[in-house]
Amino acid sequence: VGGGIGGLCLAQGCRLAGIAAIVFERDLGVGVRAQGYRISLKSAGVQALRSCLPAGLFELAVATSLRPATHLVFTDARLRPKFSKPIPSLPPGEQAVGVNRLTLREILLAGIDDAVHFGAEFHHYEPISGRVRAHFTNGTSADGALLVGADGTNSVVRRQLLPDAIIDDLGWAVYGRTPLDPELLDATPPDLIDTFNRAIDPAGVAVSIATCRPHTPVADAAADHAPTVRLTHVPDYLSWTLTAPGPPPADNTAQALHRHAVQATAHFAPEVRRILHQADPAATFRVAIASAQQVRRWHAPTVTLIGDAVHTMSPGRGDGANITLRDAHLLRDQLAQTGSAGTSPAQAKAEYERQMFGYAFAAVAAARDHPFAAPTHRGIS
Ligand SMILES: Cc1cc2nc3c(=O)[nH]c(=O)nc-3n(C[C@H](O)[C@H](O)[C@H](O)COP(=O)(O)OP(=O)(O)OC[C@H]3O[C@@H](n4cnc5c(N)ncnc54)[C@H](O)[C@@H]3O)c2cc1C
Repeated sequence: VGGGIGGLCLAQGCRLAGIAAIVFERDLGVGVRAQGYRISLKSAGVQALRSCLPAGLFELAVATSLRPATHLVFTDARLRPKFSKPIPSLPPGEQAVGVNRLTLREILLAGIDDAVHFGAEFHHYEPISGRVRAHFTNGTSADGALLVGADGTNSVVRRQLLPDAIIDDLGWAVYGRTPLDPELLDATPPDLIDTFNRAIDPAGVAVSIATCRPHTPVADAAADHAPTVRLTHVPDYLSWTLTAPGPPPADNTAQALHRHAVQATAHFAPEVRRILHQADPAATFRVAIASAQQVRRWHAPTVTLIGDAVHTMSPGRGDGANITLRDAHLLRDQLAQTGSAGTSPAQAKAEYERQMFGYAFAAVAAARDHPFAAPTHRGIS
C-alpha cells in the first residue's frame, strides 16, 4: 500500500525476482502532489536501485541525475561566509546521486504500470486464514500473502498495526522552486550554485538553495538508456527551503506561503531575495518535520511496514529516502530467498523487521539531533 519511493522500489524489485506484487496508491497519478524536489541518494539508496531496477532503468536514473554539489557552505543572511569546505569524494565503489523526485518516481513506475492501481485509498486490513485482505475506501478489496504498508508518515496501515505509535512534530519548512534561467544563474553567487548551503540570520530564519540541473536532459537520457520510457521534461530550477523558529504560517495556500517566504527574508542579501522573488508561487508548499518514536516489534505474520510509514525522520541528514530504499531492497531480498532457503514469507519479513529496526531507528535518532539544514553527510550528491 503506497506508490511512493519505497512501495515502487519494492514492487520493481519483486518483479525482477519473480515475486508477484501489486501497488495500491491513493493519488490519482504520479505527479499530482507536491513531493519536494531534489533528493540526495547515498550509497544505500543507489545500491537498492541497482539491485531492484532492471539495468536500463537504473542507468536511466543515474543518467538523469543532477549535477553534484561541490561544497558545503554556511553564511549569514547577508551571504558573508561562516564556514565552507569541499564535499569529500566517495570511497572507491560507492556512488551517490542527486535526483529530481518526479523523475525518480517516473522511473520507478516504468514497466510496472500494469501492477500499480492509482486512486486506491487503503482503509483497513483483515487477516484471513494465513493471508491478508486489504480494504479500500471505494469498497473494493484485495487478498495477498503479505501486506506492506509503504504509505508514508501518516500511514493508515501503521495506525491499525501500531495504534500507539507516536510521531513527534519537530517543526515545519516551506519549500519552493525558482526557474533557473541564464540570467538568474549569472546573478547568483558561486556559494549558492551547486553547493549544499544555508544562509541564516541571528533569529534563526534560514534559507537553503539547491541547484537542480541534470547532467543530460531527461529525454536524451531516456532515448539512450530506456527508449520506451517517457519522462516529464523538467527545466533547470533552484529548489529552496525556508525554516524559521515559531509556529508555521497560518495560511497554507501556495501563494500565501510564497508571500510569507518573501517577507521573512526581506533582510537577506539581494541575491537570496531575488531567488525567492522569482519563484513560481504555485510550486510553494509546507511540510511538517516529523520524527517517529521507536515503535515496539509487532506480531502480525502477514503485515509489515517500510519507509516513512514506520520510521519517518527529519530531513536534516537527507536519509529518509535512502533508508526507505534500503528497506525495500532488504525486504525484497528476504522474500526472494523464501523459495531457495525454505523459509516462509512470515519468516522472511520477520528477518527484514529485525534488521530494519536496528539501522532505521539509529538513522531517526541521528536525524533528530541534526539541525534542519543541507545534509552534511560525507559523499552526498
Ligand atoms: C521536502 C522533503 C525533502 C526530502 N529530501 C530528502 C533527501 O534529500 N534525501 C532523502 O533520503 N530523503 C529525503 N526526504 C525524505 C523522503 O522523501 C522520504 O523518506 C521518502 O519519500 C519516504 O518514502 P515512502 O515511500 O516511505 O513514503 P512516500 O514517498 O511519502 O510515499 C507514500 C505513498 O503512499 C501513498 N499513500 C498514503 N496513504 C495512502 C493510503 N491510505 N492508501 C494508498 N496510498 C496511500 C501516498 O500518496 C504516497 O504516494 C525528504 C522529504 C521531504 C518532505
